[in-house]
Formats: sequence, structure tokens, C-alpha cells
Amino acid sequence: MIFSGYDVTNASPFVTQMDYRQTPAIFIADTAGLDFLNSVATPVDEQVEWISNGEGLLAWLDQAGLVPRAALEAIRTRSTPAELDDVAARARELREWFRGFVRAKKGRALVAADLRELEPLNQLLERDEQHAQIVADVASGVTAFELRAQRRWQTAESLLMPLVEVLARLVCDEDFTQIKACEGAKCTLLFADHTRGHARRWCSMAMCGNRAKVAAHRKRAKEQANG
Ligand SMILES: [Zn+2]
Repeated sequence: MIFSGYDVTNASPFVTQMDYRQTPAIFIADTAGLDFLNSVATPVDEQVEWISNGEGLLAWLDQAGLVPRAALEAIRTRSTPAELDDVAARARELREWFRGFVRAKKGRALVAADLRELEPLNQLLERDEQHAQIVADVASGVTAFELRAQRRWQTAESLLMPLVEVLARLVCDEDFTQIKACEGAKCTLLFADHTRGHARRWCSMAMCGNRAKVAAHRKRAKEQANG
């Protein structure tokens, strides 16, 4: 996989990392591609890398609902831990490369020339083994047939495909003008602002919004005290 043009290095080894198993993954982006970018974050003081190894990747994909649980179990049984760790490393590489693209392009509409930089995504999409299947959906006694995309989930590498797909969908379906970074001072979370007035500023009120409010209040109180 050749990613160029952006810094693909992972987080600094000097940053203390918290064990991802102690914290549920964060899904606040309102779009799956950005939720994937947010799979490394600093929810409180310490950085959490949810995809730090193969088991982390399996757990994150499960929480994200991107791979059926039975497929995750089957791949875990068929693969060695080293194979899964290798796929996790490639997922992180893909993620950090794509973060560079989003950081550079967010806040304005994408243009045709941007497609050139997305060539690595198209190369990965070429390897996807998706096929359609007719499935019957029965809800309250009414049967509806639906054409649904399926994957074979043969190899550990196939775990990369839903990640590639959500990044491709992000590029095709989201308005990059409304892709934003949380304004929290130390926050790295990205989200798509789907609010009507496009006034969303925070990953969440609980994590950053309230913290900013408290800081602003303290600043005002201090200014008043100083007259
Ligand atoms: Zn935030």
C-alpha cells in the first residue's frame, strides 16, 4: 500500500496510552468514515488507540457494526494473532493517511482534482470481493425482498474492506464544507455537522462543550473580579 503526500506516522511513542479495553470506542462523528478516524483519541487525559492490535481491530469493527459478529469470529479462528496484528497496522496506516486528506480538505467542497490523491483508496476498492444477495426481510408479518451487498470474509485482509468503503462513502456522500474538527483545546475528534444551522462546534457537550463553557465562565468571572 503506497500512501503519499501526507504524514502517515502514528501518534508519538512518548504519549502515554491508555488500554483501549477500558473505554468504549467513540461514535460521535455522524458518519462512519470519520468515526474510523476517531478510533484514536484522547477522551480524557490519556490517548486511547482502539486499533492498537488485531484484537482491538476486531473489537472496534464489532462496536462500529461494520462486520457481522459471526464473520469476526470466523476470521479470528482462521487467522494467527500476527496476521490480525498486521491487518490492524495496515488499518492504522490507512487511517492516518486519510486523516491527512481530511485535515487538508475539510471546510471546503471537494473538486475533481482531489480525486488524484484518493488513488490508494481506488486501488484498495479494486480488491474488494463484494457481491449482492437477495435477502428476505420480514417485519410485522410483511415480507420485503432486498438486494444486499455481502462480503465473503475469507481472509484477515478482508477486514480492511469495510474501512475502505466507509472512507470512500465519506468522500462521495458528505459535504466537506461541513466536516469539522472539535474546537476543544486538546481534542482531535472530527465530525460531520449535520445540524440545520451548521452550528455544531463540539464532539459532544459532555466531553468538550461543557469544559469550554466552564473555561469561558471562569475567564469572565476573573475579568469581572479584576474590574
Ligand atoms: Zn472534542
